[in-house]
Amino acid sequence: MQLIWLRSDLRLHDNTALSAAAARGPTVAVYLLSPEQWREHDDAPCKVDFWLRNLQALSGALGQLNIPLLIRHAPRWDDAPAVLLELCRQLQIDAVHLNEEYGIHETRRDAVVAQALKAEGIEVHDYLDQLLFKPGSVLTKTGSYFQVFSQFRKVCYERLHHSLPSLVRTPLAQTALNIASDAIPTQVEGFDAPPESLRELWPAGEDEARRRLDSFTDIQIDYYQSERDFPAKPGTSQLSAYLAAGVISPRQCLHAALQSNQGEFESGKVGAITWINELLWREFYKHILVGYPRVSRHRAFRPETEALAWRNAPEELAAWQQGRTGLPIIDAAMRQLLETGWMHNRLRMVVAMFLTKNLLIDWREGERFFMRHLIDGDLAANNGGWQWSSSTGTDSAPYFRIFNPPSQSEKFDAEGLFIKHWLPQLSGLDKKAVHNPAHLGGLFGVAGYPAPIVDLSTSRARALAAFKNLPSRQTAGSLHE
Ligand SMILES: Cc1cc2nc3c(=O)[nH]c(=O)nc-3n(C[C@H](O)[C@H](O)[C@H](O)COP(=O)(O)OP(=O)(O)OC[C@H]3O[C@@H](n4cnc5c(N)ncnc54)[C@H](O)[C@@H]3O)c2cc1C
Repeated sequence: MQLIWLRSDLRLHDNTALSAAAARGPTVAVYLLSPEQWREHDDAPCKVDFWLRNLQALSGALGQLNIPLLIRHAPRWDDAPAVLLELCRQLQIDAVHLNEEYGIHETRRDAVVAQALKAEGIEVHDYLDQLLFKPGSVLTKTGSYFQVFSQFRKVCYERLHHSLPSLVRTPLAQTALNIASDAIPTQVEGFDAPPESLRELWPAGEDEARRRLDSFTDIQIDYYQSERDFPAKPGTSQLSAYLAAGVISPRQCLHAALQSNQGEFESGKVGAITWINELLWREFYKHILVGYPRVSRHRAFRPETEALAWRNAPEELAAWQQGRTGLPIIDAAMRQLLETGWMHNRLRMVVAMFLTKNLLIDWREGERFFMRHLIDGDLAANNGGWQWSSSTGTDSAPYFRIFNPPSQSEKFDAEGLFIKHWLPQLSGLDKKAVHNPAHLGGLFGVAGYPAPIVDLSTSRARALAAFKNLPSRQTAGSLHE
């Protein structure tokens, strides 16, 4: 009997470990509920709810193939070896199959589990599945990890030209086993269910992920390059939550994008090329996570920036978190995060830079808050995004390049449509005033909307001084703009 241990690969199609397990014989699936571990990792309640809803859908799909899905409790990952060993003994499992996960805790968990199972004579097979390229497989000529994305991407292109990762076979129905699937819990203690309005934005299941991918690659991908920076437009795929939970695979995404571009990834339509580029940023940050394990421990990629004199400003942090900084684009973006579990990429950069530069608050505060609220929260991408924005990371924004929030919103939300959607109290302002109501002057400002909590030019100068004072600083790096 084969066991597939499901984690961030909640799908039936193009699932490497599942396909390999089913090819070898009768298969059972298991998923571990690990609420204490999830809490330690700051996993958002809406993300945990998304996992449960996708497990429900997957259990139905596996059931059609007579593959039972079992649920076991392993509150912390330290409990995983004992829980899995017991299950393997009970079901007389010959081999356990799993798709690799990355990060120091994940790697340690899998190593300890493998050791415990192998000691009992149970085989363990792990597979590359979450990524197109195994971390550590795209390296410089001298064998080190790339620190610059464009160089990393060049090697990825060479590899893809040489061989394109193909999709794996979907398992066929097996003879019914005498094992019943477990009920999937609708909630896990400590993770409040999100409002129905949030759930409706992110329907569970592979059909929905596939629908999003198809509708994006059929039409929208052609406009991706020109529309992806405008938060009022549905210019991006909104697939991140599905990719993070493994409801869709990067191979499926790559194949769909290539199909829309006559098989080209370096030439042809600019929209498809740009989108594939984003999939490669996802790969790059996973490589960084593995190659530089300090970022997995929440340390700065650039060690010299650990000496930065971050401010302890709890009230300003709370104003940022709750979307009441008095800067409309920042507040609208934070409302979007709180209400939908997602934020547009351009705005993630803008709010992150505002927190770490204008407020000079440690990027780790922002990273943690994002993780606690994002439905697509992913350690590598989130850490990469925060360290890029705070100029502490690899290939990050040069420290002197600080976004000005009103200029960003004039550029990317010119009509103020996004701002007015999230801040209806500003809906009466014209398209100039809406970006910076403080400029309206007068004693009262706009009723119900606060004055800015910080002066943009003095806070900018403060950030520049703090970075200049670092012992040795590096200013190189490409721009994300
Ligand atoms: C401060 C900050 C924090 C972030 N935190 C996360 C996070 O926790 N999880 C996450 O998936 N992305 C994160 N990102 C990256 C990016 O903002 C989101 O992936 C994107 O907004 C998701 O929307 P989409 O699916 O419509 O993306 P699309 O534009 O359609 O891109 C397609 C896919 O490519 C990947 N991708 C796109 N941009 C990036 C990027 N810069 N880095 C890594 N992968 C990328 C995502 O998987 C995304 O679904 C963060 C960015 C910043 C600046």
